[in-house]
Amino acid sequence: QIGNSLSKLRGRPTVSFEFFPPKDEAMEKTLWESVERLAPLQPRFVSVTYGADGSTRARTHNIVTKVQKNTALTAAPHLTCIGAPREAILDIARDYWANGIRHIVALRGDPPQGTTKYVPHPQGFAYAVDLVKGLKSVANFEISVATYPEPHPESPSAAFELANLKSKIDAGADRAITQFFFDTEVFLRFRDQCAAAGIKASIVPGILPITRFPQMFRMAQRCGASVPDWLSHRFDGLDDDADTRRLIAAAVAIEQVQELQKHGVEEFHFYTLNRAELSYAICHALGVRPVLAQAAAG
Ligand code: FAD
Repeated sequence: QIGNSLSKLRGRPTVSFEFFPPKDEAMEKTLWESVERLAPLQPRFVSVTYGADGSTRARTHNIVTKVQKNTALTAAPHLTCIGAPREAILDIARDYWANGIRHIVALRGDPPQGTTKYVPHPQGFAYAVDLVKGLKSVANFEISVATYPEPHPESPSAAFELANLKSKIDAGADRAITQFFFDTEVFLRFRDQCAAAGIKASIVPGILPITRFPQMFRMAQRCGASVPDWLSHRFDGLDDDADTRRLIAAAVAIEQVQELQKHGVEEFHFYTLNRAELSYAICHALGVRPVLAQAAAG
């Protein structure tokens, strides 16, 4: 019976969840509650972000190793090139490997707050592709990298961005997770362009459930993601109405993932912002249910 149920699960989408390292005890409590709530959905991995200037280094490390050691989940730390020489970054990776961590999300990172132009560390990895090569020289990590259906703000052209992604995959990355986006067509066009450029790795859409519209809007402006008028319109007038906002946010994200699913997308990455509720509901709508409950029902 369990065998039957497991084979049913094979057709379901694969999901992963992203968290950020909490700043205080209350936030840490919320984080662990969210991890516990989402764990039965059996994500492929859960990732933990890394502060732009390496400032969360110890906290990222702490959360990731706890997830890896104390849960059945696969933990994947984010690691960036910012503010450290190559050897220091590779030491972090060696330490992760020694702690049983086998998956890293490898990024260049954004310039630290207060600076605008990216300047590589003189002894550091300059770009994500260099970090991927470095990590592969340490051990055979599974590696996810970032990509941008709407070009990265620093990218000279869409073609350059595709070539950059291809270099990261050719250097050993296993999949690319996209920056968040709200226009499904933009993602589908980008996926076609990747295929035409000979990129065979999966392009996993990064889904951002909108917890707070103004905060999302600021993030979108910083990272070059467009916010369609229809989306702003849906959240108009809800600044003081958290309950309705949550319902609208769930509806928007569920429409988005179901549309992507119709177009053959089978893997989704959720920017949870350390909250389980919306991601859980969206997964439910996708057919991603707690594995034990599903096995018992089967
Ligand atoms: P790269 O792939 O190195 O590209 C960066 C830019 O440089 C691109 O415009 C590219 O075209 C250009 N470029 C590449 N090679 C060259 C070259 N040789 N010469 C000139 N230009 C070049 N940031 C964090 O700080 N911490 C995180 O935990 C984090 N997690 C993220 C997770 C996801 C899924 C995503 C999508 C982004 C994340 N970011 C994170 C943000 C990311 O660090 C920034 O978007 C950063 O500006 C670019 O990182 P990258 O890995 O895409 O860089």
